[in-house]
Amino acid sequence: MLEQNDSAVNEVKARLSTVKHKILILSGKGGVGKSTITTQLAWFLSSLGANVGVCDVDICGPSIPHMLGVANHDVRQSSLGWEPVYASEQLSVMSVAFLLDSVNDAVIWRGPRKNGLIKQFLGEVNWGDLDFLLIDSPPGTSDEHLAVNTYLSQCAIDGAVIVSTPQAIALLDVRKEITFCHRTKIPVLGLVQNMAGFSCASCGVKSRLFAPTTDSIHKVASELQVPILGDVPLDPDLMASCDIGQPYHINHPTSPSVPYLCRLVQSLLKTSPQLQATDERLQLSQSLDELIELYQQAQQGQHAQHNHGMGDQ
Ligand code: ADP
Repeated sequence: MLEQNDSAVNEVKARLSTVKHKILILSGKGGVGKSTITTQLAWFLSSLGANVGVCDVDICGPSIPHMLGVANHDVRQSSLGWEPVYASEQLSVMSVAFLLDSVNDAVIWRGPRKNGLIKQFLGEVNWGDLDFLLIDSPPGTSDEHLAVNTYLSQCAIDGAVIVSTPQAIALLDVRKEITFCHRTKIPVLGLVQNMAGFSCASCGVKSRLFAPTTDSIHKVASELQVPILGDVPLDPDLMASCDIGQPYHINHPTSPSVPYLCRLVQSLLKTSPQLQATDERLQLSQSLDELIELYQQAQQGQHAQHNHGMGDQ
């Protein structure tokens, strides 16, 4: 069990005093898309003008640097602490992956060593002025979660976004994740249902990937009284963008998940008055509406072209 260390907690508090919002991204199970959602939130918010940092505390499975296209970068020390790696001008990243000699290296550490690194990531990185610090945690409720919660105990955490897929087995672990948040007094900002169906980019047909079961994210949300922030469909373009570390909505503005992700970011920004104030200051929701409109116009254009082509035959 991690002991409360006042000097470490104060160091983190001082370091993060220039960070407006601290948001945890959690999941009960691995592979449900937690890092994908973290990186999409980061790309969307930073491309719309917010200063965003991503702190990857998934110490044993750090995939954030790869998904943000900075996998082979190194961190360096400056007089202000560790300098994060920049995926774009307004998107900084810190991850244990930057400290490994090779992408094939495995981190096989016990709790205290992981806790020490998390303390350094939160308290010794020169994050600077950030609108959002997104903290990507490993799946489950383990040492890393307790460490983050302890070190941030004197900083106001906005809350947690919990990512799940629709399967009953994944939802079981979502319930545990929500219980963890309630016990540790971390507000649950909401649930994200990832891989919620498949929209075919060429024919537009929507299909359900997972048959309905006795459990559903709506049931979990209503029983445990947490909001649902939105759905994200399974989208091959999204996966391809993550694989090559490119911003999906910029490279694929007409792909089916773009409006879903826009609405997801908009719902997140409505979850507290503080987030709403930042949204109004940076006019993020307004820019997201514009992205949705561009998507819709492109879709109409594609359909018109398709119909025109059919008529010509
Ligand atoms: P986690 O962080 O929960 O372990 P990841 O975000 O690493 O999961 O996602 C696992 C894999 O699934 C990655 O290859 C990712 O690109 C892919 N993936 C996640 N969400 C989607 C989605 N909505 N559409 C397509 N691929 C997805």
